[in-house]
Amino acid sequence: MKISQERMKRTFGFRPNDTFADGVCHLIGGFGNCGVVETDEGLVIFDISMKTFGRKIFRDLREITDKPIKYIIYSHGHFDHCFGFEPFIEEINEKGWEMPEVIAHENCVKRFEKYRMLDKYHIWLNQQQFASMKRPVEISPHESLDPTIFIRGNEEFTFKFGGFTFEIYSEWGETDDALWLWLPEKKVIFAGDLKVVGFPNVGNPYKVQRYPKHWALAMEKMMEKNADYLVPGHGELIEGKEKVEEVLSIIAEAMNFVHDEVVKRLNEGKWFEQIFHEMVEIFPEKLKNSPYLLPIYGSYEFAIHAVYRLYHGWYDTGNPTDLFPAKSDDIAKEFLKVADAPQFLEQAKKTMEQGKLQLTLHLLDVIIKGTESENALLLETLKLKSKVLKQKAMIETSFIATNIINNGALELKPKIKELKRKLKSQNP
Ligand SMILES: [Zn+2]
Repeated sequence: MKISQERMKRTFGFRPNDTFADGVCHLIGGFGNCGVVETDEGLVIFDISMKTFGRKIFRDLREITDKPIKYIIYSHGHFDHCFGFEPFIEEINEKGWEMPEVIAHENCVKRFEKYRMLDKYHIWLNQQQFASMKRPVEISPHESLDPTIFIRGNEEFTFKFGGFTFEIYSEWGETDDALWLWLPEKKVIFAGDLKVVGFPNVGNPYKVQRYPKHWALAMEKMMEKNADYLVPGHGELIEGKEKVEEVLSIIAEAMNFVHDEVVKRLNEGKWFEQIFHEMVEIFPEKLKNSPYLLPIYGSYEFAIHAVYRLYHGWYDTGNPTDLFPAKSDDIAKEFLKVADAPQFLEQAKKTMEQGKLQLTLHLLDVIIKGTESENALLLETLKLKSKVLKQKAMIETSFIATNIINNGALELKPKIKELKRKLKSQNP
């Protein structure tokens, strides 16, 4: 039921900080890495983590250097990359320093506006997605450190500072406001969430459209640089030309594969269900077993959804029954007229014994949705569903999927408790 702290560390990169590239660059781990380029004229910071971790990365940075921050670059507008600014601003005010320039893609500002419009929804969804986090995820879309320099469309932006060249490239990938930084003098790429821990987070079940093909193109563009170091948005520093290339090329391969194979099947006139199950069957061993593509956070299955959704509408079965479906409760009630609840429960127990957990859930849902009386059988059904969900969560590897499944089990808890109490008061 619990996601181990070790796994959290692997997923989000809570790890010791790194200094590299002749002491010029630093990686400060938080929830969302902070990349630092130290020059004689001051610091260039690539991402400032999330609100909850702002103080941690600020403290760590000030143990390394006391130079002022001159530029902040946002890899993208997600809350874990540009909302940890508070302690940095406090310091600037205290010391009377000039405010740094803040560089972001123009879509980053649109993203902040969207977060403000959908603030309550985003608080809810992040509580769902990060339910197992020890520290609560603080989101404050109404306070942002807004960009002062905008990169538009797919523009490239280069500036010189402190004896170094800062080349910034804009991409689509996890988001449509992604920037990555290339420091040619030290051969370092700061990748943001175009490189995270495990499989790219490209088809998040709660979030807007993401872009697998563009992701592959971004990896290929990064490969042309022959970088010695790659600073990911989450997780450990990647060191060495060969390793950097290995990581980038396998991500590109995975993104190209999932994109091209879904597109091929769309052109063959297939619907989502068929495409999805075929795709699961043909997932190549090489990609499945790559240490850089483990489904720790995002997953291959999510990515299939992302490609389908990019090119297709919401009608996804090809069966007109599903175009304007009846309420699932009403459907379940009709099913229970054909075969009664005890029969469904008996069948669910059989499929459970056979290890068919997903089918078991479908059978149990007929009882849960279709039963109008609150009785002992419903209680047994709810308990069994909770058990199945916990078993599924144990074998699920994606952080996001595990949290969704565990949340489902948690939501059943008060229902089970309440029903137990009611039945007890009826039959003391
Ligand atoms: Zn991130």
